[in-house]
Amino acid sequence: MQHEYIERSFFSLGTVNYIKLYNCKDQSLLDLAQKRVMDIDDMMSAYKADSDISKLNSNSGRGFIDIHEDTYKLLSRSIEFSTMTSGAFDITIRPLVTLWGIGKKKNFIPSENEVSVCKKLVNYKNIILDHSNCRAALENPGQAVDLGGIAKGFAADEVKRILVENEIDSALINLGGNILTIGNKPDGTLWQIGIQNPLAATGQHLGIVSLSEKTIVTSGSNERFFIKDGVRYHHILDPLSGKPADNCLLSVTAIASGSMDADAITTSLFILGFEAIALNELKQIVNNEINYIERSNTSVFGNLGFEAIFITKNLEIIATSGLKEKLRIL
Ligand code: ADP
Ligand code: MG
Repeated sequence: MQHEYIERSFFSLGTVNYIKLYNCKDQSLLDLAQKRVMDIDDMMSAYKADSDISKLNSNSGRGFIDIHEDTYKLLSRSIEFSTMTSGAFDITIRPLVTLWGIGKKKNFIPSENEVSVCKKLVNYKNIILDHSNCRAALENPGQAVDLGGIAKGFAADEVKRILVENEIDSALINLGGNILTIGNKPDGTLWQIGIQNPLAATGQHLGIVSLSEKTIVTSGSNERFFIKDGVRYHHILDPLSGKPADNCLLSVTAIASGSMDADAITTSLFILGFEAIALNELKQIVNNEINYIERSNTSVFGNLGFEAIFITKNLEIIATSGLKEKLRIL
């Protein structure tokens, strides 16, 4: 049986967004969802002069500016992730993002000196929040924030909230790879979401995850990158080195309830590696076999419930043990 659906693709948040609603004919609901995403982009984009973030950045070192409650929420959650990850996740990364210009400047590698100058500006502890007046400030001139590692997840959560409030019980939301599902597929079965092979063309999957009512988010060095002299330069920057994060990983996927948290988690894990969530029982890596990590309570994320899939540079797949029944390797 064919299930009826309506769908919408649109550009916002610097990426392509897609929403598909089953058993619903109401286009105005898609309008509402799209408008919410675009409003979030208007508030949070570092590339729009009138956004809260651009105002905050251009006012750095000069005191507070008023921001929307949504922006406040993202700033404060981002700081919590910085604390959890000892600064690996740090939205004051923007001076380095601008310097490297991955995906903007062509194959540009900055000098050690340029990196070190920008790196000094990166410090989440210099974001000052004033809760009672919904204001924020950046302590030092030249400092700037970038919500690229968390805003899409927040927007996905907001789209889901709007759809659920409007009685949608089966839908797929994909905001530039931040995938969020509502309910089950219309035939009652689980959603099947592909895990992209980071080294192959889009749509070539290494595995399939079955899920319902969850978000699945991937961060990887294959989103925006260039390769020079065998080195892959990409858009997830390690605040410690000031350079693209470099470890054994090509991508990290998180499966969780909330997309904002999953977004911050994958960006963080890409920098920290799997040691950040599991220390006690990392199974031996064997070719073509899924390797499960037993999660220990040493996770830097405390008791934030999530599962993760790591793809290493050798295309080995390592997953947390909660995915045993849900992840199928192709
Ligand atoms: P994508 O945007 O491709 O889905 P991510 O969610 O991992 O991938 O976000 C990457 C973006 O996060 C970068 O483009 C940049 O804007 C921002 N970013 C880069 N490094 C960091 C970092 N260490 N902490 C927080 N945000 C970062
Ligand atoms: Mg992210």
